[in-house]
Formats: sequence, C-alpha cells, structure tokens
Amino acid sequence: MTELHRLDIRELAQGLASKQFSSLELTQHFLARIDRLDAQLNSFITVTHESALAHAKSADALRAQGNAGVLTGIPIAHKDIFCTEGVRTSAGSKMLDNFISPYNATVVAQANAAGLVMLGKTNMDEFAMGSSNESSFYGATHNPWGLDRVPGGSSGGSAAAVAADLAPFATATDTGGSIRQPAAFCGLTGLKPTYGRVSRFGMIAYASSLDQGGPIARSAQDCAYLLQVMAGHDAKDSTSIDHPTEDYVAALAAVTSPDKPLQGLRIGLPHQYLKDGLDADVKARVHDALAVLEDLGATLVWIDLTTSDAAIPAYYLIAPAEASSNLSRYDGVRFGHRCENPKDLMDLYTRSRTEGFGDEVQRRILVGTYALSAGYYDAYYLKAQKVRRLIQNDFLKAFEQCDVIAGPTAPTAAYAIGAKQDPVAMYLGDIYTIAVNLAGLPAISAPVGFDTSYSGHENCAPLPVGLQLIGPYWSESKLLSIIHQYQQRTDWHKQRAPIASDTGASV
Ligand code: GLN
Repeated sequence: MTELHRLDIRELAQGLASKQFSSLELTQHFLARIDRLDAQLNSFITVTHESALAHAKSADALRAQGNAGVLTGIPIAHKDIFCTEGVRTSAGSKMLDNFISPYNATVVAQANAAGLVMLGKTNMDEFAMGSSNESSFYGATHNPWGLDRVPGGSSGGSAAAVAADLAPFATATDTGGSIRQPAAFCGLTGLKPTYGRVSRFGMIAYASSLDQGGPIARSAQDCAYLLQVMAGHDAKDSTSIDHPTEDYVAALAAVTSPDKPLQGLRIGLPHQYLKDGLDADVKARVHDALAVLEDLGATLVWIDLTTSDAAIPAYYLIAPAEASSNLSRYDGVRFGHRCENPKDLMDLYTRSRTEGFGDEVQRRILVGTYALSAGYYDAYYLKAQKVRRLIQNDFLKAFEQCDVIAGPTAPTAAYAIGAKQDPVAMYLGDIYTIAVNLAGLPAISAPVGFDTSYSGHENCAPLPVGLQLIGPYWSESKLLSIIHQYQQRTDWHKQRAPIASDTGASV
C-alpha cells in the first residue's frame, strides 16, 4: 500500500472502481503521510482527520450501493481560502484564525458532490497576497524540492502538498499567478481558468475582478479531472459566467493525427517574455519545451506584447485597491479577530486590524486606500484601469496571429526562503503571470525540466522550471490538451521531489 500516493487520478479512480483499495485505505494512507512528513513542509494549516475518515467511509458505502461517481472516494486538499462548513477557514491570516465557516464555498460543495474526500486546508500567503507563501500567519511553507526554498505563492501549501504526495490534487486560486507560479516552483501542472469559469462564492476575496479558482495537480489530465468538478455557472456569484462547460477529460484525447497531434497549432512567442531578466536555465528549458511542441506539429511565431511592462504597475494598483475595499469588512465587530478591552469604537477598529493583519496586507490596504481616495482616484486607479484595457487589447490582437502564447511562468526557479525582503523585488517575479489576470484569460503552467545552476545553491535537488501557455477566453480544454500531448512525450510531470520518495518504510 505504500505506493498509493504514486497513482494518478485516473489510476486512483480505476483502483477504487475495481475495489483494489477502498477510499478509507486511500484516505488513511494520505493522512499518515501528512502526519509523517508535513512537519518539514508546513503545507497544511488544518488537517481534518476525523471528517476525512468519515467521508471516506461514506464514499465506500456509496460505491457499495452502486452510487459512486468517477472520483468518489479520492482525497483532495483545499486551499484555506475556500470556506468549509464547520472547519476553520483562515485565508492564512490571524484575522480569521478563529473563523469557523458556517457554509461551504461552491467549489467545496462541488467537490463534496463529486464524492471527493477533504484531507484538510492548505497553507497560503495571507489573504493570497504574495508569491512565496512567506506572508502566512501560520509560517512559511517549504518547497519539497529543497526545504530551504519557497514553494511559490500564494497557493504554496496546495502545491507543496501535491508535490510531496500528501494529496493527489488540490484546489487553488490565482489573482496574479498564484496557481501557475507555485505549480512551476514545485514541478506541477496548474490551470488558471477564464475569469468567471469557476465560482468565487465562498472564496475569500482578495481582488474580486482578478481572483479565479482552479486546480493544481501533477498533470494536465489530473487538472482536467478537477476542473471538471470546479467549472460551471453559479447563480450565487454575480461574476460567474453562464458559458457551457466541456468534458475536459474527454477533450484531452481529441487529436486528429497521433503522430503530429499539434499539427496546425500556432504558438506565439512574445519577444518581451524571452529577453533580459530571465534566468538562463529557465530560458533554456522553455526553449527545450518549445522544441518538443514543434516536434509534435506546432509552429512557432514571434509576437509582440508591447504593454508587458505596464502589467506590474497596473496590477499593483488595481489589486491593492480592490483588496482595501474587500478587507474593510474585517472590523473586529462581526467576525474575525477582535482586540482585548477596546477603549472605544475607533480603538476597537484600529487595534483589531493592526493586530489581525500582517505587514504585507497592511501595506496593500494603505496603497489601495490611497489610490482610491478623492483626488488620487483619477491619477492612479482610473489610469490603471485604462492600462488594463490596453493589456487586454494587446492579447486579443496577438490571438489574431497565434492560437496560444508561450513563455516562462516565472523568471527564476524557486528562491531561498527569506531571500526577497524587498516587496518590490517579490512583485517583479510576477512579470509573466499577472497580465493574464488583468485580461481575464486562461493560462496553464506545466513542468518542463530543471534549473540545475540556480544561485549556486548546494544540498538542494535541481529545481523545477515551468512553461506557461496562455489561451483565448474559454480555451481551457485546448490548453489542457496541448500540455497533455506534451506530457505523453515527456516525463517531467512524473519526477518526484526527494521528500515524496519517503514512504515511511524505514521509519
Ligand atoms: N503575487 C501576486 C500578489 O501578491 C499574486 C497573488 C495571487 O495570485 N493570489 O498579489
């Protein structure tokens, strides 16, 4: 049974269907791995042992009655940004350390309805603000490929848990790269869907016009299984779009020529994504991956995304502005952290928020409140929104020349915990991911090899490198199937981090 964590989602589904193992055995297996290994990683904030075992038993009972779905009984981890009824939902913040959600996010309800068994809630940057998982109130998460390295953020806990085989797949969210960048840093596949594809109901808001939930898993195929569960219109979310969903799993296999499955696909390469500032090894791995895609039949075309440089400044105005508004609800009155013995109402607000929010969150509230204040709104927020439209137009124009756009997910592989003390240095790492959120487009990151020379680091396994593909609106199944074809030809997605090989056998 020690190798159950090596199985992919299809194999897990088949094993359950053919009764090779039960959901209870599977769930116990993953819980035991979490108990044994997570002290080194800190990828979970909360592990729901008891309810996981109870749900696994119900899943087995459903199967015995012949009422199981494909995924019934497979374990999953949820990012601690999704509200889970009766379970703490902290968003990585002291502010919500005592918050037990009275209801489920739609994504969690969908996962439950599919029979998935929640193992627990994963660590994350506080309120999803960050690129390294270091801003969590619950402490940094460690990258399974090198324990002194960040796993990426803000969905770093979900990525580290999957990369260490503590969960077969996990939910995550992406406001400016938080699915794709941790997937890249941890050697995983992660998909940020089109804005409006996945419900935001019960997903704690950071920047509402940018936030989008999606899967983090080992492969495109595993992501397709989870997207199938998460996607769909939700009347409870006014920004959810009533656009038909697809059978994302079936779409993976839809190729015309088995030899050249990507025949006719035009992949755009933005000059701006492959210039200076990009780590040499990352660049080399991206080019290696492009060569494989060409070999599969795709053609490469150089394109220009002239607004690329404007993405970081626009995002770091719009996201904090929306955050300052969203986070105003944490006032110490209705729910969340409340300071001791307030002198008066103003003292209650001030101290509750000062104590409850960490430094990065306070920094963003300050920036966002300033950008929205009278007299500055036009100069900053409105201007940033206009830039946002130009960025969107830039992508739409590019898609006249190509079907998808390729480039690196992040400029470097995972850096050391503590290495980026300057917030702006951290923000610059989002250079390739955030324009996608400003435009509302879907994008995927997939592992394409390793950076072996990164920053002269010793005693660390080679660090994974991610390739990003950006597609037009609603092209989720296209992105998944391109990466699926790539993963049929390569085995980067099958490589395991050193810690994942720990089966506990010698313990
Ligand atoms: N790193 C970006 C930020 O800090 C994106 C985070 C995210 O996607 N949630 O805002």
